Parts: sequence; structure tokens; C-alpha cells
Amino acid sequence: MNSPLLFHSTNLKSEPLTFSQALLQGLAPDKGLYMPEYIPQISLEEISSFTEKPYYRIAFEVSRKFFTGEISDEELLSLVKDAYNYEVPLEKVYDRKYVMRLDQGPTASFKDFAARMMGRLMQYYLKKENRSLTILTATSGDTGSAVANAFYGLDNINIVVLFPKSEVTDRQRKQMTTLGRNVHILALDAKFDDCQALVKEAFTDPNLAGMNLSSANSINIGRLIPQTVYYFYAFAKLRNGNPEEKVVFSVPSGNFGDMMGGVIAFKMGLPVKKFVISTNENDEFPVYLQSGNYDKIEPSRNCISSAMNVGHPSNLARLVAMYGGVMDETGKIHKQADLELMRKEIYSVSISDIKTKETIENTYKNYNILLEPHGSVGWAGLMSYLEENPGDNTADQLCISLETAHPAKFPQEIQKILGIDPELPPSLLGLESKEESVINIESNYQNFKEYLLNTFK
Ligand SMILES: *Cc1c(COP(=O)(O)O)cnc(C)c1O
Repeated sequence: MNSPLLFHSTNLKSEPLTFSQALLQGLAPDKGLYMPEYIPQISLEEISSFTEKPYYRIAFEVSRKFFTGEISDEELLSLVKDAYNYEVPLEKVYDRKYVMRLDQGPTASFKDFAARMMGRLMQYYLKKENRSLTILTATSGDTGSAVANAFYGLDNINIVVLFPKSEVTDRQRKQMTTLGRNVHILALDAKFDDCQALVKEAFTDPNLAGMNLSSANSINIGRLIPQTVYYFYAFAKLRNGNPEEKVVFSVPSGNFGDMMGGVIAFKMGLPVKKFVISTNENDEFPVYLQSGNYDKIEPSRNCISSAMNVGHPSNLARLVAMYGGVMDETGKIHKQADLELMRKEIYSVSISDIKTKETIENTYKNYNILLEPHGSVGWAGLMSYLEENPGDNTADQLCISLETAHPAKFPQEIQKILGIDPELPPSLLGLESKEESVINIESNYQNFKEYLLNTFK
């Protein structure tokens, strides 16, 4: 049998770990992010065989390459079948230009893809080792609900979500507070940053070291691997059969976990012509790609694509590592990435709120395609790429833009721009009448710590 694929830290100062160890660990002890030591390969022949397969089967065949010997095929197959029980629509906009809707999961955002697989993998390894884990996560909306839903009812795992009372919509709150069982929701009279600070303090508190705390945000390698799959899926379903064909993907990006999944898929062998990385007005990455100078944006700019209001993407260190550089957790570059190669493979553009709104209006009026603010940033980025690269702006060129949330999650914005109220997907129906369970705690560390010790000891 092959020796297992190991994962090393982007800061290069921690011991390499197996996948299951890196998954349960979260952040490396040197504060770096785990990356595979080599990128497993997938041949075009294998990719061609995906054309007729259901999503969960593609998830199985792609992800098993990272889990060498760490989970049986039978276990993995039943795990992905359980995780991916929803549709992944590919909607034609015009010619061979598509929108991939990653919004059909239980919380109607693309974060369901990663969270559902990661939760199930964690449960599998914890059971095997007869251990339990308490996941702490701070949220300003989407991450908390995706993680809470994905981990709901799993054995050996408790989940604690902290959220700022006044910064979360009613719908977002209800997606978390109506679950119960192993899901514990804490409401704080505080800002998102305060919630985040409490979580970080708990991770480094020696008095809590015995509690088996871990994290579920996009620094975890367990969230990245599932996010490679839909790139293979979309290409396999839409390709024209020509072995030379290459696809352009556009990815609306904040913390860069989604696009890292795409870049890993590309390095595995997916024939990609270009990645379009579309950001909102937080343009630190497009500026870096052009100039080679990286300056984070503090505080981050508030845009209507709120899940992408990130002034220092936590996964950027991984992208830099992929191109041979070293960036530490503060954003300092210790070794420059191969920018020339990066520019050849990646195009990046910042989309203003005005453009985001215009794009929602135009795609709806011209093509009857309903986008929400994040997906609109992605589509606008693709249009900008095609305008600047007439050689790729042909009817034949396959282009796929990712829609990362359901328009019904942003009813006010859509109402203002289009004057319509998007229909709720089945997953969001019935929330209004469900009973909520939420714990109010004061926003100071001593209170939070006491809550943890009293609840989980
Ligand atoms: C989290 C999120 C994003 C950004 O994804 P990253 O992996 O952080 O780049 C985009 N759209 C929506 C709707 C999100 O919830």
C-alpha cells in the first residue's frame, strides 16, 4: 500500500501530519495552514468518466486521492452519498457561458459543500479513535449556519456558535437557533470581531487544553478538499468532448477557500484555461497580482456581497505556497510567489457595489438569470475578463461562473434592484414557525470560559 499523503504547514515550522490528524487539528501549531505535500493527479480519461456520474460519485473519486489508506472506499462512498443529497444546477446564460448554482444545500450557500463532508469525516475519525471534539466558531452569518446544520446530530461532536446579536438577519439566526441537540448557539451583544477574539482566546487558554477544542472555518484542510469537486463536476458535465478543450472559471472570493479548491483541482489535472478571481471592493488581491506588493485592507470595506468583506484572505498563504512562495499569517511575504506563472493562470478584478447591482439587473433583464450579490461579482468578473481578452470571447469558449448563495438569502437587495421577491428554496421554508433555542452571554472571556467549562466538562 502507498504511504499516506502527508500535509505540511505553509509556515514550514510544524511536523507534517496525515489527513485525519490535520483535519482534527485545524490550524498548525506554527499558525500556518496545512497543504498536501504533493498534488494527486487525475487523468483526462478519469475526468471523462465523470460525465455520466452523479455528484456524490465524483466527490468520492476525487477526494479519495487525498485520503490514501485513511478511510475505506465503502465508508467514504456512504459518507459522500449522505452529504450530497441535493442538486447542483448548471444554468446556461448564453452561448457556452454558464452559472453553476451551489445554493441548493440545507443552508443555501456553497459552504454546505465543505461543511457537510468535513463534519462527517470528523465524526468518522473521532469514532475510530473514541474521542470527542468541541467545535467553536464565530460567525457573521453564513459560516455559522452551514457548520451548525452540517454538524447537527453527529455523534462525538459538540458545536458552539457565537454570533453578534445585531449583525445577523432573522433568517440567518433561525437557521442556527432552531436546531438544538449538539448545536449550542450563543448570542452576544458585541461585534463579529469580539466573538472571533473570544474563540481565539479559548483556543490558546491552557486551562481549556483538556477540552479538545477545534475549529471549522476555512483554514481547515477538511473544507478545502470537498471544494475541488464541483470544478471537476461542472467541466465533466459541460465539456464538448474535444480532448484539447479548456474551461474558464470565475469565482467570487473573500477568504479564498473556494478558489483554492479550484486551483487544487487545476493542479490535479483539470484542464483550466484561466481562473477569474472576482473580489468586491476589498481589492487587496487584484492589487497584489498586478504589483507584487501585498497590503491588507484594515478595516475591511463593507460591500453588499457581505460574505466577501475580507481585507486579508486567510487562504492567501495557501495560494502563495502553491506558486512557490511563503506568506505568513500576518500577510508578510518571506519568499515571493512566481508572479509570472500566477498571472498566466489567474486573472483578478475588483467589482464595485454599483457594478454588482447593475449586473444583477442586466443578467435578469437580458437572460432571465437571477443572481444575488456574490454570484453577481463572479459574473461581472467573467464579463470583464472576456472584454479584456477578445481571443477567449468566442461563442465556443466554455466559461462557468459560480453562484455561491441563493437569491432568497438577500431579499431586500433583490427587491430594491429588481422589484421582485425571490422564492424561498425548500430548505429555508418553515423556519419562521420553528422554536428557537439561544443562550445569551455577556461578551467577556471569563463568562465564555465558565460557560464552556460548565457545559462540556
Ligand atoms: C463565504 C462566501 C463566499 C466567499 O468564499 P471564500 O471561500 O471565503 O472566498 C462567497 N459567497 C458566499 C455566499 C459566501 O458565503
